[in-house]
Amino acid sequence: MNRIRLLSEQVANQIAAGEVIERPASVVKELVENSLDAQAGRVTVEIQSGGRSLVRVTDDGLGMSRDDALLCLERHATSKIQRAEDLAAIATMGFRGEALPSIASVSRFLLTTRERDNETPEGTRIVIGAGKILEVQAAGGPPGTTIEVRQLFFNLPARRKFLRTEPTESAHIQHYLTLAALAFPQVAFTFLKDGRQVWQLPPVIGRSDPAGRLGALRERLRALYGAEQKLLPVDFAAQLRSFESAGDGEGSLVAVPAPLVRVWGFIGAPGVSRQTREDQHLFVNRRPVENRGLNFALMEGYHTSLMKGRYPVACLFLEIDPAAVDINIHPAKREVRFHQESEVRRLVAQAVRQALLDFHGPASSAPSRPPTTVRPLAGSPTPREASPVAPECVPPSPPVPAAGGAERPPGTQAPLPNFPPALTPVCDPAQPHVAQPPLRMGFAPGPVLPGALPPPQAQPAPARADARGSATTPVPLLRVPLRLVGVVGRLYVVLESDRGLVLLDQHAAHERILFEQMLSRLESSEHAPSQKLLLPATVEVSARDASFIRDQLPALGRLGVELSEFGERTFLLDALPPFVRAADPRRFVLELVDELKAAGQEVNSLRLGEHVVAKTVCRHAVKANDPLTGPELEALVENLRHCAMPYTCPHGRPTLVEMNFRELEKKFGRTQ
Ligand code: ADP
Ligand code: MG
Repeated sequence: MNRIRLLSEQVANQIAAGEVIERPASVVKELVENSLDAQAGRVTVEIQSGGRSLVRVTDDGLGMSRDDALLCLERHATSKIQRAEDLAAIATMGFRGEALPSIASVSRFLLTTRERDNETPEGTRIVIGAGKILEVQAAGGPPGTTIEVRQLFFNLPARRKFLRTEPTESAHIQHYLTLAALAFPQVAFTFLKDGRQVWQLPPVIGRSDPAGRLGALRERLRALYGAEQKLLPVDFAAQLRSFESAGDGEGSLVAVPAPLVRVWGFIGAPGVSRQTREDQHLFVNRRPVENRGLNFALMEGYHTSLMKGRYPVACLFLEIDPAAVDINIHPAKREVRFHQESEVRRLVAQAVRQALLDFHGPASSAPSRPPTTVRPLAGSPTPREASPVAPECVPPSPPVPAAGGAERPPGTQAPLPNFPPALTPVCDPAQPHVAQPPLRMGFAPGPVLPGALPPPQAQPAPARADARGSATTPVPLLRVPLRLVGVVGRLYVVLESDRGLVLLDQHAAHERILFEQMLSRLESSEHAPSQKLLLPATVEVSARDASFIRDQLPALGRLGVELSEFGERTFLLDALPPFVRAADPRRFVLELVDELKAAGQEVNSLRLGEHVVAKTVCRHAVKANDPLTGPELEALVENLRHCAMPYTCPHGRPTLVEMNFRELEKKFGRTQ
């Protein structure tokens, strides 16, 4: 007995719908993508009850002839590709030819369309119920297409049960529309929810060159999120290196020049981050995608500018030869696969890093810049690196309790530094904004825009505020003149700029400076300065820790931590970098090991490279709660200014916090 039979068209469509149409937002996505593929200049989306009772998408695109309108409801009917080879170079959003028949099979569906480039004013109207054509009529109306989808899943009660609450379904729809609006700033979008207008985004007409596109995106971001200014532009192009067999019969690979990859858009300024990946909008050839590799690349690009447990904010577009990416791996085309995944990751990380470096300015990020030298903090020994004296002769530094802001007895305050008379703050209540003589910090007196920069990492802002918008690129804080006011709590340096109040975390700044200094030494293969301990200490550890430490010995040695094997599970510590003053060398080693192990779990152990070790060693830098003199503070800020990534410590915590006059006025109730 034969048991196999072909499924009816209706059942086949419902099965396809199961994959493509998950929820009302999938309907919105498919319909809007069709409108965009039809070159619409204006798209209007209306929903009711979270899209369960109605989704209506209206566009002014190409429209369809009557024959096409009937054909588009057939499975595998598409105008976008013809041959299998076309799959390798898809330039449209759609290509599978299954969205419309799928949606029509699980809803009450109404299609009205009129060709844009046809003289005859007559259009077509087709009524479909659960996939069956009920009516075909002539219809009037403007050129373009309107598709109305009512009572989604009315014939699939099980599916309907899986839908979430109206607000949740609406949020999914709005999220997709945000992505579409970001990818197509030149298209006007209107979004109506239960009869209320949520958005009316005007078309952004701009040039199509890179600067024009960035400008258009910025405009669209502003329309969507408001006019806050915390994003940095990214505009990066590079060649994908591809490898081909050299044809020498031995299968050796040679690098051949391959297509250009372009990465452009906006990313959060240093200190702007979120607790989730929610505000990472990533597009590949204008298609919003989910790709963990790209998420990681973004994190990698931020490197030390990101705090643990935080995620970057970004709206980034990747343009790549369609042949180098596979978009046909997910029915809803949400995921993509790159043929050269690691190459693409590398380039995206590089693009992000470059944007962060450019933010601080080419002057300080030039690779040829000489390593910055940390000037001594009050009470700390003269750095040995400047001294011709052999390290062996150096007496050990006086032990200092493993200090830190947290361990300072509460209520005690460091004496104010001894300011030279010229730096003594002027206090004239009548003229609160009077410019005081700037510190001799050599700041390029860049343009001072009052209130131009929101605090990069001020108090915990409302959750969504981080991602809100971008208008103008902020003027980096270290590019405006700063005047020293004083120090509070022996840790926070109070500075004033023409924009308002600036606080600097002495210890975070010091850590950043030391970290970059260590890295630049490593790059130039210089051995880090190291200071012999008067009494070398032995440390005994567990067998597992011993093998872990053994792996890190070379990196530690290059960074000035001289640890050597002294038995199977015993190590001898006999020198430390001069800025580390470990009161208890044993405890120092054990803590270092714990921190490194934690870092290894957090990144993956492969990445436990020198920079991770350097970062961890810097954490043990003298906690700068010694009172500093004016010139020392000046040196600290000046050294920070010369860092490539000055706005965060190597662990991603802010070094500087700004509160502009606008915010101060708000706090004091002078303005709303
Ligand atoms: P696909 O987008 O993969 O081609 P769809 O089922 O989404 O498949 O659409 C089928 C076809 O219907 C499209 O190829 C297109 O020619 C036509 N079509 C769909 N929506 C519109 C629209 N809004 N304007 C003009 N043509 C459309
Ligand atoms: Mg489609």
